[in-house]
Amino acid sequence: MTPEGGRAIADVKVLSSSGPYRVRIGPGVSAQLGPALLELGLRGKVALISDDDVFHLHALAPMGSLEEAKLPCLPIRIPPGEASKTLARADWLYGRLIEGGIGRDDTVVALGGGVVGDLAGFVAATYHRGVAFVQLPTTLLSQVDSSVGGKVAVDHPLGKNLVGAFYPPRTVLADTDTLATLPPRERWSGLAEVVKAAFVADADFLPILEEQLERLAEPSPPAGLLAEAIARSVRIKAAVVEADEHEGGLRRILNFGHTIGHALELATGFGVLTHGEAVVMGMRAALFVSVELGTLAAPEAERATRLLARFPAPPPFRAPSPEAVIAGLQRDKKADRFVVLSALGKAEVVRGLEPRLLRRAIDKAYE
Ligand code: NAD
Ligand code: MG
Repeated sequence: MTPEGGRAIADVKVLSSSGPYRVRIGPGVSAQLGPALLELGLRGKVALISDDDVFHLHALAPMGSLEEAKLPCLPIRIPPGEASKTLARADWLYGRLIEGGIGRDDTVVALGGGVVGDLAGFVAATYHRGVAFVQLPTTLLSQVDSSVGGKVAVDHPLGKNLVGAFYPPRTVLADTDTLATLPPRERWSGLAEVVKAAFVADADFLPILEEQLERLAEPSPPAGLLAEAIARSVRIKAAVVEADEHEGGLRRILNFGHTIGHALELATGFGVLTHGEAVVMGMRAALFVSVELGTLAAPEAERATRLLARFPAPPPFRAPSPEAVIAGLQRDKKADRFVVLSALGKAEVVRGLEPRLLRRAIDKAYE
């Protein structure tokens, strides 16, 4: 234990095809990196990959713990942002690893948001046909979503996440203290995935979110509340992913709000809306579809919509026409399967939505 603490408030075990791993959640847990690696028998060098901004803010604690554990560390920084999630950047990273003498028994640690996690994970999966990989997620989105489930990828000029692998981490340390520096828009973006998790799989979680949503969006929410919200989201994702690691069926329910959400991200131009802002709009549309198809009772949809109405509106943006959004949907092969709610806390997948219904749903997304 470090003097600042570092004991996990929540500890979630995730099963994967390459073995179980722990997700430790709480304030200061990134200062436990050294002991966590030793516990896993990882005694080699550590390549700590981060982006420039996160490195300056949050590398001290994990690097200090590596030093204490006498594990040599090679810090590597990349420019922040989605533009870094490329094969070219992965190639550059292979070069840094080779020059730094990182071998097959060494470890790649990702310190950052989903961009760093996806990229570093892809590099870890392929370098020497796979070296140990550990995640230290520092955005709410990466703590509740991208660090769990084992998907790693880079983008291709023709599409996001087109080149990747399933490569579960050996462990995840989700340090909730790091979230204090996260810009509010990024915090709300992660909260969209938290709310989604409750909608599709955990009705008991909803009253907590209904009571505490704004507190959770504060820079420093009560540590227990924040860790609890993250842990519940991680448990939901873990349960779904354990049942369906390679997205045969069940894993699709995690795409609730994402079909129209992705199409909106695409039609507005990536980066105009945060992922969460697009997903909130997509969930509004999907709730409308659920009621229209008769899978969800109107009062339940209204309750869910009321929660979504508490998310801040995105900064003004040019709303794409429903036609442009539908054109994007038609290009997306996965869009044929649409996730609806059959109750609060329960989702199902429907196929072949009528274009007329989709068009009305997109209007709802903007309301
Ligand atoms: P990100 O990694 O780009 O982080 C967002 C921004 O916040 C960056 O500018 C980053 O520098 C900054 N930042 C990160 N942590 C910070 C902190 N603690 N304080 C201050 N600033 C901080 O984006 P993200 O939203 O974390 O992740 C998005 C990526 O995740 C996308 O590429 C998406 O495809 C991927 N993703 C992957 C999965 C998966 O299953 N692998 C799931 C969902 C999303
Ligand atoms: Mg998402």
